[in-house]
Amino acid sequence: MNITQEIAKRKTFGIIAHPDAGKTTLTEKMLLFGGAIKTAGAVKSNKIDTATKSDWMEIEKQRGISVATSVMGFEYKGQKINLLDTPGHQDFAEDTYRTLTAVDSVIMVIDCVKGVEIQTEKLMEVCRMRKTPVICFINKLDREGQDPYDLLDEVEQKLNIQVRPLSWPISMGKSFKGVYNLYDRQLNLFTPSQRKVSDDRITIEDLNSGQLDEMIGKNLADQLREDVDLIEGVYPDFDPADYLEGKVAPVFFGSAVNNFGVKEMLDTFIQIAPGPKSRLTEEREVKPEEDKFSGFIFKIHANMDPKHRNRIAFLRICSGRFERNKPYNHVKGPKALRFSNVTSFMAQDKEIIEEAFPGDIVGLYDTGNLKIGDSITDGEDLQFKGIPSFSPEIFREVVNKDAMKTKQLEKGLQQLMEEGVAQLFTFEIGSRKVVGTVGQLQFEVIQFRLKNEYNATADFVPMNLFKACWIKSRDKKKLDEFVRSKQRHIARDKDGKLVFMAESKAWLQMVQENFPDIEFHYTSEL
Ligand code: GDP
Repeated sequence: MNITQEIAKRKTFGIIAHPDAGKTTLTEKMLLFGGAIKTAGAVKSNKIDTATKSDWMEIEKQRGISVATSVMGFEYKGQKINLLDTPGHQDFAEDTYRTLTAVDSVIMVIDCVKGVEIQTEKLMEVCRMRKTPVICFINKLDREGQDPYDLLDEVEQKLNIQVRPLSWPISMGKSFKGVYNLYDRQLNLFTPSQRKVSDDRITIEDLNSGQLDEMIGKNLADQLREDVDLIEGVYPDFDPADYLEGKVAPVFFGSAVNNFGVKEMLDTFIQIAPGPKSRLTEEREVKPEEDKFSGFIFKIHANMDPKHRNRIAFLRICSGRFERNKPYNHVKGPKALRFSNVTSFMAQDKEIIEEAFPGDIVGLYDTGNLKIGDSITDGEDLQFKGIPSFSPEIFREVVNKDAMKTKQLEKGLQQLMEEGVAQLFTFEIGSRKVVGTVGQLQFEVIQFRLKNEYNATADFVPMNLFKACWIKSRDKKKLDEFVRSKQRHIARDKDGKLVFMAESKAWLQMVQENFPDIEFHYTSEL
């Protein structure tokens, strides 16, 4: 097969949801359809269970699970689909943001009882920023949820995107009868079953025929006719181009645990979802069908075994054919790299592969050479864009508790930061080190891992900081002047970029007013 054919076969998407909406369940059903797994229960949730959050063994176990389940490949109707799971827990939001840089589209799961939840809103913001096409799956229709019209309004308002229902539920909860597919005018009647692998659909040529009344009863049949009329009247015809531009999100209703409505969504997904897209680098746009290989690292995971400091780096292939054992340019790195241990993630099995294509995600065994955001190419110096750091929410100063283990602490901190567990800022004055995270949980993970893997002990002393702002200015002199006058508040991030550490919102505003030539950004990609 040539490279264009390989590209045409691939679809790479992320699955996002507020915890408990049914992401793991939906993932599992999709893998069942793809034949990638045989039994229900094979996919493990990557959830960090808040009830066990102080149980270290549990966190370690879950870290293991999240590696195993974070990328899953499967084949469906001749297409190769790569599914990227994202942690729903808000403390790991940054990990999710970075994962979203490696996908071409997104499936979003919403619980019909709870509606749009806070984490979903944040994730959608990231999708909107990147104009990522989104399909919505409204889940748990076997429960008494909110009215479907209200749910659609809520999605439009809270997620700030137009919706277009492509299926419509017939009642819900105890009286849930099924969904009507507005796209191909088929009716799918609900039979609760966790084992079902196919939906039995009935084609309805004419919604006004008596056949419908016989199947779901006159009342529900009338209601469905009314709903379909209303929807066709209110919503313009679905145009896949609007979806591809991230303007309209098609919506499906179903029940993941009963494997209901999933196949409909998957069938539409493979028809309309985008294949591997072109990507921007600092230098130029890179097209997938280019001859030469290029890709970037968006996630790094440490091995569980503290004695071997091996890591798995997740590489998204953006162009060309990636080959095992071929020397590649590690852009900005000190030397060329050659990867002999390259794994694919086909559902449960990890296997060594010889080659991979645009859209694919491969795991590279790494002994400490790679960082998140690194680009790897077949020669050219390209730096992929769009893998920014966001300002953390919580800041703590690192205090070494064991002077004999300073080196270990530094090494441990550096490696954990390269994995993207948290961000490190070093103040220009006095070299004080500050770790910033989105959630409390990371500090516990860091402290535990420093001790466990590096034998270093550190305290994390709370600091009163509001945000880390990456700064720049057109006028180099003005920037130098600013840095000099605010020296006590200037730090460098892991890449040596200048950061202004703002103590409060009000103070930041004042500083911004006083220094109009300086730009302040909450993300590292300016
Ligand atoms: P995640 O946190 O988004 O991965 O959610 P899970 O897939 O782990 O699901 C959370 C809970 O919701 C589990 O107890 C599932 O069995 C349940 N669940 C998932 N889908 C459905 C559904 O369609 N109906 C009902 N009633 N429960 C569901």
